[in-house]
Amino acid sequence: NHDTDVLSAARNWRLDDVEVRSVSDVLETGFASDVLTPEQLKSRLSKSVWKSLKATLEGSAPLDSAVADTVALAMKSWALEKGATHYTHWFHPLTGITAEKHDSFISPTSDGGAIATFSGKELIQAEPDASSFPSGGLRATFEARGYTAWDPTSPAFIMRHANGATLCIPTAFASWTGEALDLKTPLLRSIEALNKSVMSALSLFGHFESKRVSSTLGAEQEYFLIAEEYYYRRPDLVMSGRTLFGAKPPKGQELEDHYFGAIPDRVLSFMTDAEHQMYALGIPVKTRHNEVAPGQFEIAPIFEHSNLAADHQQLIMQVLSNTARKYGLVCLLHEKPFAGVNGSGKHCNWSMGTDIGLNLLEPGDTPHENMQFLFFCSAVIKAVDEHQDLLRVSVAAAGNDHRLGANEAPPAIISIFLGDELTDIYDRLSSGQGGRGTEAGLLGLGSPVLPPLPRHAGDRNRTSPFAFTGNKFEFRAVGSSQSISFPITVLNTIAADAVEKLTAQLQEKVDAGQSFEDAIAEVVKSTYEQHRRIVFNGDGYSAEWHEEAERRGLLNLRTSLDAFGKLADEKNVHLFEKFGVLTPREVEARQEVMYEQYFKTVNIEGETTEYIAQTMIVPAAAKYLGDLSAVKTPSRALDGVATEVASVTDELYDALQILRAQNQELGGESAHEKAFHMRDKVLPAMIAVRTAADKLERLVADEHWPLPSYRQMLFVK
Ligand code: ADP
Ligand code: MG
Repeated sequence: NHDTDVLSAARNWRLDDVEVRSVSDVLETGFASDVLTPEQLKSRLSKSVWKSLKATLEGSAPLDSAVADTVALAMKSWALEKGATHYTHWFHPLTGITAEKHDSFISPTSDGGAIATFSGKELIQAEPDASSFPSGGLRATFEARGYTAWDPTSPAFIMRHANGATLCIPTAFASWTGEALDLKTPLLRSIEALNKSVMSALSLFGHFESKRVSSTLGAEQEYFLIAEEYYYRRPDLVMSGRTLFGAKPPKGQELEDHYFGAIPDRVLSFMTDAEHQMYALGIPVKTRHNEVAPGQFEIAPIFEHSNLAADHQQLIMQVLSNTARKYGLVCLLHEKPFAGVNGSGKHCNWSMGTDIGLNLLEPGDTPHENMQFLFFCSAVIKAVDEHQDLLRVSVAAAGNDHRLGANEAPPAIISIFLGDELTDIYDRLSSGQGGRGTEAGLLGLGSPVLPPLPRHAGDRNRTSPFAFTGNKFEFRAVGSSQSISFPITVLNTIAADAVEKLTAQLQEKVDAGQSFEDAIAEVVKSTYEQHRRIVFNGDGYSAEWHEEAERRGLLNLRTSLDAFGKLADEKNVHLFEKFGVLTPREVEARQEVMYEQYFKTVNIEGETTEYIAQTMIVPAAAKYLGDLSAVKTPSRALDGVATEVASVTDELYDALQILRAQNQELGGESAHEKAFHMRDKVLPAMIAVRTAADKLERLVADEHWPLPSYRQMLFVK
C-alpha cells in the first residue's frame, strides 16, 4: 500500500549507524589511510629497491622481477595489517565500469595448513577470465585471453565492505597480442603524448625547470538520490537506470527552490559518510551541494594528475552507490533518470600542469607568462575546432543522448566559451590593436594598451559544452555515469596534436629570423583567425545558436549514432596512430563496442518497457475499470472516467503491439545495424507506449498504480 510506502521510505534511516569524525581525525589518521602511498611504500622498502621502483614510476626503466617480489612482499604485509583478506587487479574494461576478480591471500600448504602469499608475478600480471568483456572483435580474432598489468603510477588501495577488505591494484588490461582492451591504457599513452609535445614547446619558450607535463583533471559529479524502497519497486530503474514511465509531477524544478538549498539531514549524513571513505582512499573531495533538479546533488574533488583522477572518479561513483544503501537511499548515476527535470553530467575541469606545479592555462603576471598562456590557450582552441567530432564521440552514449541535444545543457554542438575579456584580447590581437608593433611590444600584454588578462574570471555561462573558467577548461558534455578516461584521452591527444603543430610554426618563424615575440604574436593571431568560429559566448540552448552554428560550419552530431560513425574517420585513425594512443585496429574495436553498448542499452530499455506495460500497467487499468463497473448506481462521472480509461488503455495496447514487434526484430546482424534499429524503431515505439501509460497514471486510482510516482521519488527525502 502506497501510504505506508511513503512514510517508511521517508523514515528508513537511523542516525545511530553514523560515525562522527572531526577534521583532526581526518588529518591525523584518516586521509589516504587506505592507500599505499609512495611514502608508505618507500618506508617499507630498502633504499636500492625503492630506487629501482622509482625509476619505473618515472617511466625510465622496466620493473625488475626481483624488485617486484620485494614490492609484493611489502604490499602484502601492508594490506594484511589493513585487514585485507583478498587482492584484486582492478581494471577499466570498455564497459566503462571497473572490474575486479578477487584472489585470497590464503594459500594451503602441503602439511594441511595455510599461509598468506603474494608474489611479484601476481602483482605484475594476472589473467582474469576475460572472455566476456567487450573487445570489439579484438580478442576473437587472435586469442580468447587477456591479461592485466600493474600500473605502478596509481597507488594500490584498500576497498572495504561490511565484514572485510580487499587490496586493489590498479592495472591496465590488454590482449596477449598487445592490444588495449581497456580505458586506462590509451589514457596513459595520451598523457605521454601530451608530455612530449608540451615539453618541446616549453623548451622553445626557454623553460627548462619543469621535467614533466601531464593533464590535470577535476571532475564534478552530479547524481540523484531516491529512497531505496521506491527504487526496488521500479523495474525500469533497476534494469536500465532510468525511469521509462512517469507522469510529470505537479511541481518539478520550476520553483528553483532546490539549487544550493539547505541539504536535508539524511542526505548530508550520507555525504559526510561517503566523504570520509573517500578521504581514506586519498580522494581529495572538496565541494558538495544540491543541484538544480529536486533530489539531485553534486560532489567535486580537487584536481589531480589525470590518470589518478580517472581512477578516483571510478571510486567516487562506487563509494556513492555503496554508501547510499546504508541510508536507505539509492544513488542514480544515469544521465537522465527522470524526464522533465534536469539530467546529470560530469563536468571535467581540464588543464595542463607541470611537475613543478606550473599551470599552462593560467594567465600570468608578466608579458612573457602571458605569451605562453596565449600560446597554449590557442592550441586548445585549434584542437577543439579541428576535432569537434572526437570530443562529441567521447561523450556519446545512449544515456547521454537524453541530455545532449535535448533542450538542456549542453548542446550536442561543440563550441568554446572564452568569456568576454579573453575574447576581447583575441579580437584586439586579430585586428592589430595591441598586437605586434605597438609601442608596448610583446603583444602589449601587461601594458596599458590591453587590460591585464583575466584571472579566474567567473564563468556564469552554463550553456557551453566547453568553457574557459579562468585557469582551465571545463568540458561539460561528459555524462554522469561515464568513465572520464576516454574524454580525457581525446583531450590530451588533440591538445598534443595542436601544441605540436603550433610549436612547429613557431620554430619555423624563429628559424627564419623572426624575433620570438613577433613569431608568437603571429602564431596566436593566425590560429585564432583560423579557428574563431568555434568560439561562442552566447546562449548555447537557443534556437538561434543552432542556426548560427550551422552557418559557421560547426558539426551538430545530434545523437550518439551520428557521432560514433566519426570515430574511425581517416583523420582520427591517423591522429591516434601518430601519437601512439590507439592503433587503427584498436580504434575500430572501440567503435564496434560503442555500437554494441548502445544497442544493448536500448534493447534492455525496450524489453523492460514492454514488460512493465504489459504486466503492470495494463492490469492496473483493468483493475480500475473493474472497480468502476462494479458500482451499480448509474453515474455520468463514473461512466465518463471508465470511457476515458478504456480509450487510453486501447491506445497503450496499440502502441504496445508495435513495440513488441520492434523488440522481436534486431534490424540486422551487425552491431551497427542493430544500434540503428534501436534508435529509429525501438526508441520511438517506447515513447508511444510511455505517452499512453503516463496519461493513464493521471487517470487510474492511486491505490492501483503499480509504480512509485515522480512525486514520491523526487520529493520524499
Ligand atoms: P570554479 O570557481 O571555476 O568552479 P573551482 O576552483 O571551484 O573553480 O574548481 C572547479 C573544479 O575545477 C574543481 O574540481 C577543481 O579542482 C578543478 N580545477 C581547478 N583548477 C584546475 C586545474 N588547473 N586543472 C584541472 N582542474 C582544475
Ligand atoms: Mg564547475
